[in-house]
Order: sequence, then C-alpha cells, then structure tokens
Amino acid sequence: MRKIPQKIREITIGEVVPCPADPKSLRVFAKYDKNLEEILPYLCAMFPRSRFLERLNMVRIDKGKHSIYIFEKGKMVITQVKDEKELIEIINMLLDKIDEAKKALLSGRVVKIPDRRVIGPMDIYPYLPRTNCGECGVSSCFAFGIKLLADEASLEECKSLDYLSMEKIRQLIS
Ligand code: SF4
Repeated sequence: MRKIPQKIREITIGEVVPCPADPKSLRVFAKYDKNLEEILPYLCAMFPRSRFLERLNMVRIDKGKHSIYIFEKGKMVITQVKDEKELIEIINMLLDKIDEAKKALLSGRVVKIPDRRVIGPMDIYPYLPRTNCGECGVSSCFAFGIKLLADEASLEECKSLDYLSMEKIRQLIS
C-alpha cells in the first residue's frame, strides 16, 4: 500500500490502524476542518443505511462493507478501507455529500431525521455481562458499549461475553 496522504481536500487524515473487523484492511481516523453539527441530520437523510445517534451526536453510515462514523466536531472514523485509492474515493464521496448537505441547510429546507431505529448504549448494555470487571480496558460495561458503537472496540475484547449475547449485540450494531 502506498503512503496515505495527510490531507484530502478539507479532510486531514490522522491515525491509520488495522481494522478490528478485518485486520487485513485499515481503520482510518480523519478530521473535517469545520463543525458538522448542523448538517448531521441532512447527512443521515442522504444515506439509506444510516442512523443518527443523538446521545453521541454522531451519524453512522453503512456503505458496502464500510461503516463510517461522523461526529459533530468533524471527527470521522472509516472502517475496512482496502488501500489509498479506496480511501480517496470514500473521502471524495463524503465531501460531495457534505457540500450537498450544506446547500440543503442554506436553502432552509427542513429535514426530519429518518425514522430508523437508533441504537444507543442502553440497547447494548443488557447483553453485556454488567460486572464492570475492567478487563476490556474501560472501567464499566456501559463505557464499553459506547466504544462498541463508535467502533473503537471489538466484541472479542470482552472475554466474559457468551455466544448468544455476542450475536445479539452483533445484530444490533451491524
Ligand atoms: S470486559 Fe466485559 S464484563 Fe468486563 S468491563 Fe469490559 S465489557 Fe464489562
């Protein structure tokens, strides 16, 4: 893989690590150079497989094999990126959608957040062991649930999870 560029248009590329969902691919952290809070609902409405997680002020977009997380302050996480070429394609697509969302906002068009079931940490929590043992690296199962939703942890990091609970959580967050 060629060196990942540090900046693609208005997006600065940060950490690039092996993706927990598929270690042969990459998880890319990036940052858009402006606040995105106002356009998050517009972005959510533009992608059929997206959810707005109000408690985290974040939109999760599922596109092909990728999950893309966009936070209000411009932070982005893109999973399962194959290589530099694919990363550039995804980022250009996101930037075009961001431009479209800004135009929709400026036009005064009111957008309703699509009525898709929003999965939050409280949905995941009942299926976690709730012992707060800390072995996954965070102090509580609830905090682990938040990290799962942000794709900053993988289910395998909790060694106390039984198979059925793991499958149930997988269904909720996939
Ligand atoms: S390892 Fe599992 S049981 Fe322990 S705190 Fe993390 S999520 Fe909870």
